[in-house]
Amino acid sequence: MESNTDSKTNNLKVYSTLSRSKENFKSINKTKIKFFVCGPTVYNDAHIGHGRTYVSFDMIKRYLEYIGYSVVYMQNITDIDDKIINRAKEMAGEDENLSLLCSNLAKKYERRYKEDMESLNIKGVNLFMRATDHIDEIISQVQRLIDKGYAYATENGVYFEVNKFEEFAKLSNRNIEELEGHRLQTDSTKRDEKDFALWKLRTSSEYTGEPVWDSPWGKGRPGWHIEDTAITEEYFGEQYDIHGGGLDLIFPHHDAEIAQMEALSDKKPMVNYWFHTGFLNVNGEKMSKSLGNFITIRELLKEVSAETFRFFVLSTHYRSPIDFSKDSLHQAGKSLNKIKSYIAELDTILNNHFKDNDEIEERMDLLESSTYNVLNESSSSFFNAMDDDFNTPKAISSLFELINNSKNQLNELNLDDILAIKKFFIIVNDILGIFFLKDENTGDHEEELLDLIGDVRAKLRLEKQYELSDEIRSRLTDLGYEISD
Ligand code: AMP
Repeated sequence: MESNTDSKTNNLKVYSTLSRSKENFKSINKTKIKFFVCGPTVYNDAHIGHGRTYVSFDMIKRYLEYIGYSVVYMQNITDIDDKIINRAKEMAGEDENLSLLCSNLAKKYERRYKEDMESLNIKGVNLFMRATDHIDEIISQVQRLIDKGYAYATENGVYFEVNKFEEFAKLSNRNIEELEGHRLQTDSTKRDEKDFALWKLRTSSEYTGEPVWDSPWGKGRPGWHIEDTAITEEYFGEQYDIHGGGLDLIFPHHDAEIAQMEALSDKKPMVNYWFHTGFLNVNGEKMSKSLGNFITIRELLKEVSAETFRFFVLSTHYRSPIDFSKDSLHQAGKSLNKIKSYIAELDTILNNHFKDNDEIEERMDLLESSTYNVLNESSSSFFNAMDDDFNTPKAISSLFELINNSKNQLNELNLDDILAIKKFFIIVNDILGIFFLKDENTGDHEEELLDLIGDVRAKLRLEKQYELSDEIRSRLTDLGYEISD
């Protein structure tokens, strides 16, 4: 798909799973980007593996906005699926309406998912679209695929005929012949093992009260892959800019999406850039509900702040795996505290010179470009790293360069330099969302606690209890807080 010739200029390079290379980023429309990410299947609380994926896409959206795009970010909510039905069956009493139970279960976990995202400071999703609100669009796509000869109906459902779409599996780059043995769905009514369900018919022998919708082929429910393309076609059209998801979705989910949409539209590519996040692993294994090795976002946020989790996630490149351990999370918290105590020092200097925050902001707005080389070098390496396929670990290391090279000079710098450094950190935070976030979940009163500890140490020194005061300082230094007397 060609981009507009007057596409916005930028230095951003992005890695696309489809081309398996880094490309210069060009939007289809000059200033607007259509960005779709596969949302959750809502039958349980989200775990921190989900958190990893959605924090990464949140950072990507924030950066695209920072470089000047207006981004429409849409997620689907899979609120009808075998997993939801099975969970509802486990919970159902004898006379309970299974269909209602499924719907209530999905609503409950959708609400809790959105609360979890909010508590991770993920606020940029503009549109959440439920599968069950788009049954008409799904049926229309299935019918059009049948009409074009790409799909066929059997007594069990409607299937996409994979052999009819020559480029099937071009995203995962799998050899279609090798797929013969790969049981996508076992069903003797299919023409070929590889064919996947677009519509699953209710078979009377199986019927146990699960949710069904009327369709030209009989009562049933949608297959998983078709819900995304029905939703994206409705709101984004046949082609759009970016599609994201975790690595596990490349095959068969995203390959199936491409087959469905490109078969229908005869236009390629369906999306210009495919972004896939690496897994959050525990002891080398993907964190997942089925393996039972998961920690929910809610559980984690009782122990650490959302800022620490975000910093932990963004300290690794979004495409690389993260090995989760309490220890590595703790280390991330310590590193983040170093940045926060540096910012607190900037704030102390600024608060000593200006009447209030408004005055500080006014002065920041008037700043000309900075002449402080230490800042300029670090900020350009920060943005160069972000432009290089959102390389957040490299970007974060340039923050530490700035801190290490300037922390002993802060008292000698002029006020405009201090203001410029603070302004840079505000921009960094707009992109990464890792500081200044009051964590209501954990009842995190960090600033008040540090003030309180400061008062206690001052008293101890007055009483000449220097040893105890020094010990408190050294323990805080271990935790990453640099305390000056
Ligand atoms: P699900 O609800 O399981 O379909 O997952 C929603 C999103 O989270 C998908 O994009 C998955 O790829 C992603 N995801 C699930 N588990 C992990 C994990 N352990 N690490 C990173 N992403 C994950």
